[in-house]
Amino acid sequence: MSKYIATRAIRGANSLVTEAELMLHRAIKDKGADTLVKFPNTAYYLPLIYGMTGNAVETLGQLEPVLQMARSLLHPVPSEKHWTPYLGETLDSGMATLIAAEAIEAVRFVYHLQPERKPGFHLAGGTAFTSPDGSKEGGNGADGHLNGPIDDIQLRSWGIQLVDGRMPGFAAIVGCAKSNEVAVKIVRELQKRNILCFLSGNVNGRSIIDQLIEEGVELGYDTYTVPFGTDTISAIYALGFATRSALTFGGLKAGQARDILLYNKDRVFAFVLALGEVDDLKYAAAAGAINFGFPVIADTVIPEILPTGVTKYEHVVSLPFNEIPGEDDLERAELLVQKCIEVRGVKVKVADVPVPVPYGSAFEGEVVRKNDMRVEFGGKHSRCFEFLRMAPLEDVVDGRVQVVGSGFDSIPVQGHMDMGIVIEVAGRQMQEDFEPVLERQVHYFINGASGIQHIGQRDIAWIRISAGAADKGFNLEHFGKILHARFKTDFGAIVDKVQVTIYTDPEKVQEWLTKARAAYDRRNKRLADLTDDRVEEFYSCTLCQSFAPNHVCVVSPERLGLCGAYNWLDCKASFNINPTGPNQPIKLKKMIDSTKGYWQGTNEYAGVGSHGVVNEVSMYSIMENPMTACGCFECIVMLIPEANGVMVVSREDTSMTPAGMTFSTLAGIAGGGLQTPGVMGVGKYYLISPKFISADGGFKRVVWMSSVLKETMADELQAVAMREGDPDLINKIADERNVTTVEELLVWMEEHAHPSLVMESMF
Ligand code: SF4
Ligand code: ZN
Repeated sequence: MSKYIATRAIRGANSLVTEAELMLHRAIKDKGADTLVKFPNTAYYLPLIYGMTGNAVETLGQLEPVLQMARSLLHPVPSEKHWTPYLGETLDSGMATLIAAEAIEAVRFVYHLQPERKPGFHLAGGTAFTSPDGSKEGGNGADGHLNGPIDDIQLRSWGIQLVDGRMPGFAAIVGCAKSNEVAVKIVRELQKRNILCFLSGNVNGRSIIDQLIEEGVELGYDTYTVPFGTDTISAIYALGFATRSALTFGGLKAGQARDILLYNKDRVFAFVLALGEVDDLKYAAAAGAINFGFPVIADTVIPEILPTGVTKYEHVVSLPFNEIPGEDDLERAELLVQKCIEVRGVKVKVADVPVPVPYGSAFEGEVVRKNDMRVEFGGKHSRCFEFLRMAPLEDVVDGRVQVVGSGFDSIPVQGHMDMGIVIEVAGRQMQEDFEPVLERQVHYFINGASGIQHIGQRDIAWIRISAGAADKGFNLEHFGKILHARFKTDFGAIVDKVQVTIYTDPEKVQEWLTKARAAYDRRNKRLADLTDDRVEEFYSCTLCQSFAPNHVCVVSPERLGLCGAYNWLDCKASFNINPTGPNQPIKLKKMIDSTKGYWQGTNEYAGVGSHGVVNEVSMYSIMENPMTACGCFECIVMLIPEANGVMVVSREDTSMTPAGMTFSTLAGIAGGGLQTPGVMGVGKYYLISPKFISADGGFKRVVWMSSVLKETMADELQAVAMREGDPDLINKIADERNVTTVEELLVWMEEHAHPSLVMESMF
């Protein structure tokens, strides 16, 4: 253990805890001990403090004992007389630093020093702020806090990507790169591997955030690059995120510090990349990160700390930028990123896609605005469709990409044209049922190219190519290249050959559009016919067990997984692709109760899949043995006893529900892989299934529903109302715009003659 590091980390910790105490005392004097403190849209209070100490801090006054705890973790700065060569004191100081840092951020919130954060935040929204003593904070004096803490909604929506491996981990990048070019290269290399980048800190006032902004890199949730702030303290949000992933997905409880830290060490592939000079505070914060098992890689000369068991591998690795044996800076940046991945043991899958622009899931959310656009297909002015079908092996030439019709050279800038993408796949394991499963991937595959935007599916697809991508040489053929490469890499087990034809010739577009529409119709019919009683097996999904160790989704034709990402056909395809993977057929065997949805096979599987935690699962009831939930559910369904019905809250709804809790708080009750009668996490398309809580009365039990669901699923919900024989049913359901308490709900139900009032008791 390096005495140098210990000295600097302990010194940094001591001064930060002191700073936090001073700030807190002044804030209490200014505002009063009862002043509320909270981060936006989280059920986990100040998440790191909540997880590590179990204290649910809601007021300034409640921060006092927390900071006392931080102080008690401090040790004297090592001297000749006092020095133990153990990591423990440094780690304690690191934890004290994290607690102090989060407390400081919380106090800053009290002074409104953080900008309002909007979902899908883009940097344009960042605002400047000043600290309580009036001095400018942050490196460049502006944009001190750009994003602030990540909210629970975003955490959950990333959840599924974290568990299915699309997002292998996160990098907390602190400081400033050698040059703007290097900064961009590092972030691009990480994005290419779909690693989430949390950005913070500065060196002598300059931050990697400044560097990226200057180079026009799009920052935000959608591009996997989250700028927390240009000071080191804001790096705390990365650890708050890590703490919450253990609470959200791992079912751990506040105060289980050791378990939360171990969870992160084993399951969250994160590391700290320290760019540029490392000061005392950075050493102290790094020591905090090491507690989580996250190694620290520095691009400067600092003493290394080799493995001792806290992190899986090395704790601190020094890789002086100029000594990395690359030809030039960009190559060195690439090697630096590779080293980080190696040190943390991050598992990365990258498809080799031959296109002239960067490629990876991190680019999936990129938006191509009208002004940046070279050409578009579909949307308001033209038609674009995509159609994937299976074909006999001998009819497909693997890798063939043809463009039938003209390219977009002759189209004016920001113009549009019609296009059809026809993908033909062949394979011995391929089945017609997999066509829609594969076709849906087109959206993700095409979106992975930087500068390309894809929206919609089937014959309402809408694709934009940015001017930047076109300048780099991206053309129509590249759509085919992307699709070929990705289908072969991701679905190689069922797809042996892939050929792609891009049609722009008007007559051909029309001809294939007709064929495609006939196929869409056939598939719709097939889906409508696919009911629970017509199949012999359901599927398990244990994908989320990497995060929620005892949770299992039982996926049936009429009940999709609670994340919304896996339906029965998806699971079936996935099982064919990977027979030992997370989706296994569950043979139903003997029917036990057709109303509540019990089979011998599903019950047996529940026991095995949950490692004995759950022994019975009802497919159609929320009241008796409901299905468990991990953390990535799209909606929560919860009983409101007074109303003899249930409410449905969307993940996107941050308002108050009649249960007296917001989604975030409810999610804490619903998740963690436990059965809670009366509470269930579901995928939103389960709401429109005839089997939606059918044992308890079905959709007519819904008395309250987030308006976002009513709006985004208006047509589907109206169809349900017709099916239930009550065309006005949706209007009888309250939402957050008119009802936020149980009392209001009961009045509303009377006024609207909600059917649940006269239905039999749910108990
Ligand atoms: Fe997780 Fe269930 Fe979705 Fe599978 S279906 S990924 S277990 S939430
Ligand atoms: Zn999940």
